[in-house]
Amino acid sequence: MAAGKLGQLLAARADVRVVALDVCEEIERAGVPVERRAFEAADLDGVWLVVAAATPDANREVAAVAEVRRVFVNAVDDPANATAFLSGVIRRDGVTLAISTGGAAPGLTALLREGLDAVLPRDLGAWLDEARRQRVAWRRDGVPMPERRPLLLEALTRLYAGAPPGARSRLSACPENEGGRPGHAGPAKVASGHVSLVGAGPGDPGLLTRCAVARLRAADLVLYDALIDRRILKLARHAQRFFVGKRSGRHAMTQPTINSVMIRAARRGKRVVRLKGGDPFVFGRGGEEVLALRAAAVSFDVVPGVTSAVAAPALAGIPVTHRGVSSAFLVVGGHDEETFAATVNEVAPNGVTLIVLMGVGRRAALASRLIDRGWRRRTPAAIVVDASKPTQTVWSGTLEELTAEQLDIENGGPGTIVIGEVVALATLESRDTESTEKREHHGSR
Ligand code: SAH
Repeated sequence: MAAGKLGQLLAARADVRVVALDVCEEIERAGVPVERRAFEAADLDGVWLVVAAATPDANREVAAVAEVRRVFVNAVDDPANATAFLSGVIRRDGVTLAISTGGAAPGLTALLREGLDAVLPRDLGAWLDEARRQRVAWRRDGVPMPERRPLLLEALTRLYAGAPPGARSRLSACPENEGGRPGHAGPAKVASGHVSLVGAGPGDPGLLTRCAVARLRAADLVLYDALIDRRILKLARHAQRFFVGKRSGRHAMTQPTINSVMIRAARRGKRVVRLKGGDPFVFGRGGEEVLALRAAAVSFDVVPGVTSAVAAPALAGIPVTHRGVSSAFLVVGGHDEETFAATVNEVAPNGVTLIVLMGVGRRAALASRLIDRGWRRRTPAAIVVDASKPTQTVWSGTLEELTAEQLDIENGGPGTIVIGEVVALATLESRDTESTEKREHHGSR
């Protein structure tokens, strides 16, 4: 035990003398003066700190002598005879962090030390350098004290996001700027991984959120569903990418398998992106995955996406609400007729704008259900297929026409059905087949 303490003291460049009846080889080899005899009061003359690593009796004697001379005593495993505790210490890149339980629980100190060490940013040295630079600038510019902390936070955020010094930045609403984790710096790998459930929007990469882009860029592993655009996947340039969705009715991976792949990868320290079309919580089984991640105590976050439920109508010029026409919209799945019927039975016929996802294949039966339930046959209806993609097509007609077996809309892509008076407000003649970038371009001319 004394040898262990000696190591710590020498690391702090202390001037050490050992007094002991006998010493182990390790102390002999340490190159410090050793006096092989019993402790004497005079040993504490001119001393700053004494470490008592002997029997309780000897420690007690040392403590009594030290008390009189006002010398602090660190007593190994003997808190009753101690006035100073050499706590668990983390020293990294110029930062020192000490943990103490007042000598009561050295085991806990050690555990906390390991835990804290694991959550400290990997590039703490860069943080320290930045903080030093900031301090010099504040002093030079006479920046008042209360302004300094927010400035430092902003500077560190910039560092974290990899922006060049001096670049303007704002704390992002994205909980972890540029794919890092809170308390973890930038792109460096950390011991414990993380899963992000990311919404990819309806297809066009231009409709990704900035947070989604950051997560993809930082990802080690991407598990993606069907309908995800290749250009979006390419943003995850360092990642392994796996298709886990449904292909022609068959699941490439079962939900429990997807959950366990995510959890295992995160536990190996990977940054996992679970990429889903639209928004992860709109018919995306995102909720189930979050429950599994929470149960496994894996760190995760959710990055909302632009849902096709709203984007598909919007891209066809259909406002889902419009003052005086419709003040509510109901998003319902159309893959199960009974669930669909049970849901629409809860609203008055023609009472809301109805948005049906996963319903194109069953549209005739669904439309018949609505008519049976009292919806007007001439209610305007539209189907937006491949919204936001270069292949976007829009069919428009009436609820009655939806019941027809043949409609000229199928191109194999996903489609969103919109039913309600708001459909008549649309500028459908534009049959938009342009990507967001092109639309923006046109808009700016
Ligand atoms: N989480 C997704 C929805 C998943 S369910 C979201 O928030 O958008 C899948 C259904 O979404 C499809 O059957 C289709 O109805 C709709 N959908 C997805 N992408 C679409 C697109 N680009 N255009 C039109 N509808 C789309």
